[in-house]
Amino acid sequence: MSLLKVSGLGKSFGGVRAVDGIDFELAAGELLALIGPNGAGKSTTFNMVNGQLRCDGGSIQLNGQELVGLKPRQIWRMGVSRTFQIAETFASLAVVENVQMALLSADNKLFSMWKAAAAHRRDDAMRLLDQVGMAAQADRPCSVLAYGDVKRVELAIAMANEPKLLLMDEPTAGMAPKERNELMALTKRLVLDRGMAVLFTEHSMDVVFAYADRMIVLARGRLIAQGKPAEIRDHPKVQEVYFGSGKTFEKSGSVKEAV
Ligand code: ADP
Ligand code: MG
Repeated sequence: MSLLKVSGLGKSFGGVRAVDGIDFELAAGELLALIGPNGAGKSTTFNMVNGQLRCDGGSIQLNGQELVGLKPRQIWRMGVSRTFQIAETFASLAVVENVQMALLSADNKLFSMWKAAAAHRRDDAMRLLDQVGMAAQADRPCSVLAYGDVKRVELAIAMANEPKLLLMDEPTAGMAPKERNELMALTKRLVLDRGMAVLFTEHSMDVVFAYADRMIVLARGRLIAQGKPAEIRDHPKVQEVYFGSGKTFEKSGSVKEAV
């Protein structure tokens, strides 16, 4: 059985049908890329799955349990996590303290004194940092880290509730190609090690084709194709609707103008 089962999911903003009745499934241990042009409805889909946005209709089931109508925090408790950018207020905290804050939150102690974070589950925080290759930088403030390292810490924070499903909306935005590949390779390893499922959006087709197990393609709120990267690469509807006529995929997966 699928871990996540989305059916007939829809959302309008005024007259704009941002997500227009989409269906897809996601299995444990699967890295699923959600792609599509700007405005296709990717972020709207994410925000309905994590409960930030209320859908107009449809169903989102996690292991057979309905998520529609639940609060973001309840959905998070059921094992659906997402990556967040580290807030500016937390950037001055040490790397390990940021992860400890996330563990406090997972333990429902967010409102205890901040001072308590320093003593809270430091070993567990270090274990999470070790998983993302950041243990050696645990005591540095986040504000001094390289951009790619901040992204690793954000990943460790998202793992604090031991998610079954991790949502990453444009995780590699603003990253250099090398950093992108490192972050996705790390994500892939977490998926394999923990049997976690990941749903992510990504602009770089090189990254998508290199790391996604499967892809779904949105255009104007509709799901126009799904399949393995090789199938999507050759899909005429995707090439036309997503890339525009006169463009095609190169073998590498980047978009190329047809000559
Ligand atoms: P993507 O993430 O694929 O770029 P979005 O899900 O952000 O697309 O947006 C899908 C459509 O919904 C767009 O037309 C966008 O302008 C519209 N939209 C998204 N969020 C809102 C909002 N909060 N209010 C009004 N319109 C929105
Ligand atoms: Mg978006």
